[in-house]
Amino acid sequence: MGIENVGIVGWRGMVGSVLLERMRAEGDFAGLTTTFYSTSQVGEPGPDVDGAASPLVDAYDLAALARHDAIVTCQGGDYTKQVLGALRERGWAGYWIDAASAKRMDDDAVIVLDPVNRDVIDRGIDAGLKNYVGGNCTVSLMLMALDGLFSADLVEWMTCMTYQAASGGGARHMRELVAQMALIGERSADLLADPGSEILPLDARVAALLRDDAMPTENFGAPLAASLLPWIDRAMENGDTREEWKAFAEGNKILGRSGAPIPIDSICVRVGAMRCHSQAFTIKLRRDVPLADVEAMLDGANDWVRLVRNDKESTLAELTPAAVTGTLDVPVGRVRKLRLGPEYLGAFTVGDQLLWGAAEPLRRVLRILRERLA
Ligand code: NAP
Repeated sequence: MGIENVGIVGWRGMVGSVLLERMRAEGDFAGLTTTFYSTSQVGEPGPDVDGAASPLVDAYDLAALARHDAIVTCQGGDYTKQVLGALRERGWAGYWIDAASAKRMDDDAVIVLDPVNRDVIDRGIDAGLKNYVGGNCTVSLMLMALDGLFSADLVEWMTCMTYQAASGGGARHMRELVAQMALIGERSADLLADPGSEILPLDARVAALLRDDAMPTENFGAPLAASLLPWIDRAMENGDTREEWKAFAEGNKILGRSGAPIPIDSICVRVGAMRCHSQAFTIKLRRDVPLADVEAMLDGANDWVRLVRNDKESTLAELTPAAVTGTLDVPVGRVRKLRLGPEYLGAFTVGDQLLWGAAEPLRRVLRILRERLA
């Protein structure tokens, strides 16, 4: 069975919009017949991908969905739970490509990140698996950055301390962060305008605003601008948040080593970045490897990861959300041996969580499936 007729659900959302942008840029629509769906705008014009926009089809219309060789969805986990089982019960045997986490850990699903786990994806295709799911954004970016060390099986255990962008929560969260920044800017404008004014009144003004009811916090539940939030997603039983658990569970599944997992512990923190996630790693290597060899392994382990020199100038120019946002680059820097001992490594990475963290693995697995099944 080839893949020619594809349904796309969730294309209006943040991940879906970036997916469409990337598919257009890479010419992925060539040779495809595409139908666009919506849960809320049925009949409205869909996106124009080949010179003509067709009306949107109801995303709950199982008969329409069942006609596709593959369905790509960025709609969310509730949609997946509601629709995929029902489609399979009708006997639909097409490929399901999904951004949501709902199916990631199921045995009949592969978590896709092909620069890192093309072998796992190929084994899934050979075994007849039909569900291909993008990983958690932080986990995918961590694996892209440390590809060289995982490929050499050098990681005995590691920790990820994350600095995650507002976009991880969706479009409304990004707006809320900017609204919080705007409120702080507007309400301190008089003090800022006077360069001779003392710093403590400005600090007091901002501190009061952070506790003021005027601060919009409907989405984050607390101020993020001029602050940070050390809790993402829901609690797990062992004290982890679900975001922290994913680094261990998804990370090992992507690497194809759930049977002999690498211990990975995290503390995941939301910060006031727009769409780039950053992470600081402490890595226990399986043996003492010279730093120059470690750097060589990291640099160019895949086409997107790049070593940044461990100096101030390079770090500020190349290893920040401001430098990386909107690009597929995955810089890794601050690489050095730690005082803990010669097997201990520190490193820092930044990546656009909407690209490698969400949309890019999905569009690439659609390509892979098309090529493999042609
Ligand atoms: P989102 O922006 O909330 O979009 C999801 C859907 O909401 C849209 O497809 C659209 O569906 C509907 N929607 C309602 N009002 C909208 C509006 N004003 N603008 C755009 N869409 C609107 O969700 P998302 O952040 O893209 O995430 C989608 C899935 O990907 C989730 O399962 C998420 O967990 C997963 N994921 C997200 C990220 C991330 O960084 N955000 C990363 C990896 C995975 P209708 O057209 O049907 O109304």
